Amino acid sequence: MAETKQGIVVATRGRLFEVKADDGSTLRCEVRGKVKAAADATSPVAVGDDVLFICGDGGRGAIEKVLPRRTQFGRPAKGSENKLQIIAANLDRLCIVVSVKSPPLKTGLIDRFIVAARIGHMEPAIIMNKTDLEPDDDFQEIVEAYRSIGFDLFTTSAESGAGLDDLKQYLVGHRSLFAGHSGVGKSSILNQLIPNLNLKTKEVSAHSDRGRHATTSIELYELPSGGYIADSPGLKVLGLWELDKEELPHYYPDFEPYLDYCRFSRCSHTHEPDCAIKEALEKGEIYRFRYENYMAIAESL
Ligand code: GDP
Ligand code: ZN
Repeated sequence: MAETKQGIVVATRGRLFEVKADDGSTLRCEVRGKVKAAADATSPVAVGDDVLFICGDGGRGAIEKVLPRRTQFGRPAKGSENKLQIIAANLDRLCIVVSVKSPPLKTGLIDRFIVAARIGHMEPAIIMNKTDLEPDDDFQEIVEAYRSIGFDLFTTSAESGAGLDDLKQYLVGHRSLFAGHSGVGKSSILNQLIPNLNLKTKEVSAHSDRGRHATTSIELYELPSGGYIADSPGLKVLGLWELDKEELPHYYPDFEPYLDYCRFSRCSHTHEPDCAIKEALEKGEIYRFRYENYMAIAESL
């Protein structure tokens, strides 16, 4: 009998999975027929899964068992909308990467991703890259806003290296997903954090990614000091498919203290009278941009 090992799925290769064993070796594995997908999922195995596998002949392995997932996030599978395509499992952090300039900083995307992170049971963190460029006037205000709400926020420059040590510390021992628009510097940051990675970086262009978002490949990279980062070039936006409109305010920690004080228990905080959220907004206790983004997300649901 071949020896059973434990490992983590770091990439998909067609129908095979690349598994990194606890001893550091990697092996391409197929999935045993007895390993079944959950009733609502398209595949039994996803990147990030902890698995038990055996090494077979010819340098190929077989996944025997998928260990229980701590977290997962996915999206409706193409062709069978009631099933979920699991994009990644067991990630505990969502690092939302934006650039202070070029492409311009948009808080709407940050706030959407914060909600998506919490739905997927990941801790959100914000990385504002390209601090070597001249930021817009409201940049510092936005940084203070997110920090005062309680979010982890890092300012970095992959170009100069500023802020990368703090970020590195934060990532040690965790499995983090990097997400954000293309061109903000995700690959450049990863190349700085992981020597010899050599991901291709590209010039910022409005057209470069057209027609590429159909596929969502995802890959886990191991950090030298422990932990993994998942990069998903195809994942530009995380949908909020599972979200019920009425739950949205509960994903806003800055709204939470006020929610019990609206006149209507099912207040949407948009048009109702005696709304505690709108009162807090008028008093300057809730940031206007957070509220405006809330309205935009609520409308899109
Ligand atoms: P990705 O699409 O998010 O992976 O972004 P890339 O890492 O490919 O970077 C896009 C472009 O921005 C490239 O031309 C990089 O050289 C540039 N870039 C990345 N980080 C920085 C930074 O901190 N400062 C400046 N000025 N440019 C950066
Ligand atoms: Zn209200």
